Amino acid sequence: MTNPLLTDWDTPFGIAPFDAISDEDFAPALEAALAEHEAEIAAIAAQTGPADFDSVIGALEAAGERLDKVLSVFFTVAGADSNDKRQQLQRDFSPRLARHFAAVTANKALYARIEAVWETREGLNLDEEQARVLMLTRRNFLRAGAALEGEADVRMTEIKARLAELGTAFTQNLLADERDWVMELCESDLDGLPGFVVEAARAAGREKGKDGPVITLSRSLIVPFLQFSPRRDLRERAFRAWAARGANGGETDNCAIAAEILALREERAKLLGYGNFAQYKLETEMAKTPEAVRGLLMAVWEPAKARAEADAAVLEDMMHADGVNGRLEPWDWRYYAERRRRAEHDFDEAEVKPYLSLDAMIAAAFACANRLFGLEFKPLDVPLYHPDCRAWEVTREGRHVAVFIGDYFARGSKRSGAWCSAMRGQAKFPREQAPVVINVCNFSKGEPALLSYDDARTLFHEFGHALHQMLSDVTYESVSGTSVARDFVELPSQLYEHWLEVPQVLREFARHVETGEAMPQALLDKVLAAANFDQGFQTVEYVASAMVDLEFHDGAAPGDVMARQAEVLDRLGMPDAIVMRHASPQFAHVFSGDGYSSGYYSYMWSEVMDADAFAAFEEAGDAFDPALARALEAHILSKGGSVDAGELYQRFRGRLPGVEALLKGRGLIAAE
Ligand SMILES: [Zn+2]
Repeated sequence: MTNPLLTDWDTPFGIAPFDAISDEDFAPALEAALAEHEAEIAAIAAQTGPADFDSVIGALEAAGERLDKVLSVFFTVAGADSNDKRQQLQRDFSPRLARHFAAVTANKALYARIEAVWETREGLNLDEEQARVLMLTRRNFLRAGAALEGEADVRMTEIKARLAELGTAFTQNLLADERDWVMELCESDLDGLPGFVVEAARAAGREKGKDGPVITLSRSLIVPFLQFSPRRDLRERAFRAWAARGANGGETDNCAIAAEILALREERAKLLGYGNFAQYKLETEMAKTPEAVRGLLMAVWEPAKARAEADAAVLEDMMHADGVNGRLEPWDWRYYAERRRRAEHDFDEAEVKPYLSLDAMIAAAFACANRLFGLEFKPLDVPLYHPDCRAWEVTREGRHVAVFIGDYFARGSKRSGAWCSAMRGQAKFPREQAPVVINVCNFSKGEPALLSYDDARTLFHEFGHALHQMLSDVTYESVSGTSVARDFVELPSQLYEHWLEVPQVLREFARHVETGEAMPQALLDKVLAAANFDQGFQTVEYVASAMVDLEFHDGAAPGDVMARQAEVLDRLGMPDAIVMRHASPQFAHVFSGDGYSSGYYSYMWSEVMDADAFAAFEEAGDAFDPALARALEAHILSKGGSVDAGELYQRFRGRLPGVEALLKGRGLIAAE
């Protein structure tokens, strides 16, 4: 029998034939696809004679097509609809794939062919995108260590292996500290806690085998406890334990691990010829240099700190009015901030939801894409991997653009969070290929399904990523859609969230499911104001973490991470009642893996851009200004990573982004 993953898919728009694929097909298909890709790579590496763009870079782009197809189906179902078998396959595949891709960049003969193309690039008459793809391909190989020889090459392999071990140990220590601590509560300790926190504490108690309710260090339990518990003594105990995760001495202490990771990263960067790890890491980003990151963070820091200090004074007065003397402490902040929020902005989530049905919010996201980019969406009846999935054909002026799949409901087989992925990315080489894009969310099912305002924002966010994929118009898949720098990739998604807040969009689509009435303005105002509450605190705890991350990697690695952390916070003038969002011994973004090391700033970098980019529409006085929408598509959404991100932004906006719109958006400076 033929394996359906390995055949040509004769289905509408070449969507994977999910109804024909069974879990038994994955392992043999993966082996066959890996072998095919290995053979393709070996053939390119074995070429002799002059190297040109098509025979080396073009061939690399075209290689691995079957592997992409197999993996796109597998990762789609493994993430959105897993089972024991798929989990086992994932555990088997992941080291196998890591070895496979590491062997590609370690192939010296292949690297020599790429280098030969690079040497002759001036005479090759490459267009802008080809020149970029060549540069990116070569850079990936160089950054992986392809040009290293002898001892340096051996040492690089050792460093990578040791870093992988240390990252795993860091994560496991953190989990152990979180698992081992509980605070048992008696019934009277529950006074003042809302029902959902009491329920969660009881459920946690049952899970830990205790008779009564407990507080654990899980963020989803301890944060609401700190927000709602009037018991200052209990808040302090819980907070101190939470802040000490990964720094409790003994076997699970992460401080020495963090120091070793930083030292190895520095050594790795220097082997590759960079001054330090931050320079290595930021080379591929829009920010490019540590100085640019520091500039952004400091521009936000001062106004955020001023706001946080003003807020601290208000909260401290509330505490004194409660009869508690002394300074506001970190375990007091969330409690008094929550009381202030209720006094100033309270609204009931249950009041909002009937105005935000899932179907209406999908229609709103589609309607905005229609007004901005002329896209049309027609339901498509095709077999997918789960009955909750829906598909649409996306067209423009009658021409096929993409297939869009929405998988919106939470279920046990789906991992948490929300994401967008392309089952097939847009490309024109080696042949035209239209995108197949999926948005996966975890909304509660219902009849009809109703969303919270946060859910609706998530829907728009993921749809913004989907537009980046669907409107992509490049030649090579390696630079299509969301294949862009990490600090640029959230621009289209965060930008799209702004259209949800456009009054005419809410008036038209946020209608009561039963009465059809528009959401009352007063309720809408409360929802929007609540989104900006306590931004001084949130910005300070975030920027402090981002700054410590940057300083860890920009310069000689510190022998004592806690001392360096203290030094950085001291220089910043960290407010007394706020701590870093992630203290170093628990900073998994930075130490569990490499993804966000000297990259934690990137959330804010993107936010600066989305605020600045949407300000262009506000300045034009029309959220659907046609010329701006065309420019957004032409310069950003269609270009993927085919041009440097900073250059793309300049082409769209005529200048680089400024922080002003972000500061106004977060309410950290007054809007005029
Ligand atoms: Zn995103």
